[in-house]
Amino acid sequence: MDDKIFYRTATALEKSLDSGEITSVELARAIIARTKAIDNKLNAFISFDEEKTLGEAAESDARRKAGKKLSPLDGIPIGIKDVIAERGQPLTCGSKILDGYVSPYDATAVSRMRAAGCVLWGRINMDEFAMGSSNENSYYGKVCNPWDVTCVPGGSSGGSAAAVASGEAIMALGSDTGGSVRQPAAFCGIVGLKPSYGAVSRYGLVAFASSLDQIGQFGRSIGDVATLFQILSGHDEKDSSSYPFEKKDYVAELKNYRAVKTIGVPREFFGNGLDHGVKRTVEKAVDFYEKAGHVVKEVELTTAIEYAMAVYYIVATAEASANLARFDGIRYGYRASGAKDAIDIYHKTRGEGFGPEVKRRIMLGTFVLSSENFDSYYLRAQKVRTLIRNSFMKIFESVDALVTPVTPSTAFKIGEKTSDPLQMYLADVYTIPVNLAGLCGLSVPCGFSESGLPVGMQIIGKPFHEHEILALGYEFERSHDFKNAHPLI
Ligand code: GLN
Repeated sequence: MDDKIFYRTATALEKSLDSGEITSVELARAIIARTKAIDNKLNAFISFDEEKTLGEAAESDARRKAGKKLSPLDGIPIGIKDVIAERGQPLTCGSKILDGYVSPYDATAVSRMRAAGCVLWGRINMDEFAMGSSNENSYYGKVCNPWDVTCVPGGSSGGSAAAVASGEAIMALGSDTGGSVRQPAAFCGIVGLKPSYGAVSRYGLVAFASSLDQIGQFGRSIGDVATLFQILSGHDEKDSSSYPFEKKDYVAELKNYRAVKTIGVPREFFGNGLDHGVKRTVEKAVDFYEKAGHVVKEVELTTAIEYAMAVYYIVATAEASANLARFDGIRYGYRASGAKDAIDIYHKTRGEGFGPEVKRRIMLGTFVLSSENFDSYYLRAQKVRTLIRNSFMKIFESVDALVTPVTPSTAFKIGEKTSDPLQMYLADVYTIPVNLAGLCGLSVPCGFSESGLPVGMQIIGKPFHEHEILALGYEFERSHDFKNAHPLI
């Protein structure tokens, strides 16, 4: 056993576990030791329960010994963003208002991981209520990028991406409302999938913007992400927005990468505001697909790029203001002291419990939903959202997938954008349209900028066509070696 087993992919670890080269308990110990050694530099975890994790690993070892392995990920430690409920574990959403709250139940994603024998490892740091693009909005402290600790890991699932990139977890769950899986995956040089809306149950995912939220998967290889998506996806009667689509064998489908595809390249995604190093690297990836025999053609997505930000910050804040009304100081977590009556508890708790970004969004959302503003903001935004979706669906009549950058720049410096929320919001300009249209999107490491920071390309697919974007990502991955590039932390 080498001393860096925490850097192996889940696919490689399955073989090591099957052959008896390592046990799941040894693997869990290696991950725990790695986390204890470096997490003071990254702060990717809010909490973890060592004993519980080792217990699950021991159960997995016993199952394997008895020939009763439950899935390819049986025995693999997977971190969970602290917005997804795990029974008996803290569920903070990165907020003071949920400090001390323990979840009484499992999210469907978590119960499916249990049924697959995954080892549930650690509660991962995040922007408060998944609002942010840099992971600087957590009550539990900011997260740092393992490639350069003076830079942000991206957000809001920055902890998940930092943990996987640095060997503190083999894989992780995140949530993506406007880019929070793909953007940190790109900043940290790993793979991140935002499934189509309705593909993975939201039951037990604390809601930010319910019509946009999806649980996404982080891994170091496309194969790992495909395997976890296989386990998590599929209809769930506990989530009325989950869709009974026809599932594929996502791992087997990776082998179909040779099928010739038509790839659309929206020029608007390569225009003003895009960092030179990112542009060059993603264009090289597009060239790769062309040389590999796919048909590459330019397409137009002006509506999506021009209006997505405005629409998103109306729809997402409106939904957030309604969803976050439940945090009243009575039912969950934190309660302010010294309040004189119930209304006062509500005001004081929310005043002390929510951070500035969450308050900003609640105010904006309440404003756009107020009776005098509803028609001119919320209703209009919904109409433009439909136009954006239609513009994608029209393009998907003639292309199979789209390739774009994930982010306008590589990871930026900690503190660089905190004083200017608009600059921060622009970090998601290429990912937000995908959520608004309900599509699937994959972030694939495709190189490094001059400064040595990872660059990601985004592959966007039709709703419930994850198999196609995963196969395209796999084709790229197998002829480049980025999955074996690790930060020097
Ligand atoms: N950065 C975006 C926001 O702050 C997206 C967040 C997310 O996807 N959860 O809303």
